[in-house]
Amino acid sequence: MTHIITSLCVRDRGCIEVCPVECMLPGFPLEEWPWIYIDPDTCIDCGACVPECPYMAIFPEDEVPSAYTAKGGEYISQVGLTGHFEGTNHHGNPISIDTARQLEAGEVLDFTPDIQPHYDFFKDGPGYGVKDVDDGR
Ligand code: SF4
Ligand code: SF4
Repeated sequence: MTHIITSLCVRDRGCIEVCPVECMLPGFPLEEWPWIYIDPDTCIDCGACVPECPYMAIFPEDEVPSAYTAKGGEYISQVGLTGHFEGTNHHGNPISIDTARQLEAGEVLDFTPDIQPHYDFFKDGPGYGVKDVDDGR
């Protein structure tokens, strides 16, 4: 099994540096790969990244919510969305996401479709190659 980062990820990057096996990578280009991605073949399911995420975006694969009830005000980021999120990440660098949407309280979302992109990122996507283009955002 692996851990999974869901659409609640807004690239804060707080999680990446605590991973003992360095299997978390930022997606590039952002419009196609908006989250941080976990390599399912390398993740040892230690759970160290979970409490580091201020946005509570990380779950064990078998606990990814299929009916997440929004508190209201949080953002999701998904390919195809056109809203804007702006903030500052864990390292003080600006975050700017153009594939975002702010949630309304009580909205119910299924995050299980967020599982497969982690497998795709390392199989068909850029994978560990993003280390060459990582600009800290
Ligand atoms: S800490 Fe959370 S929001 Fe930040 S990059 Fe990791 S999963 Fe995404
Ligand atoms: S669960 Fe552990 S090994 Fe897996 S991504 Fe998180 S910190 Fe890394």
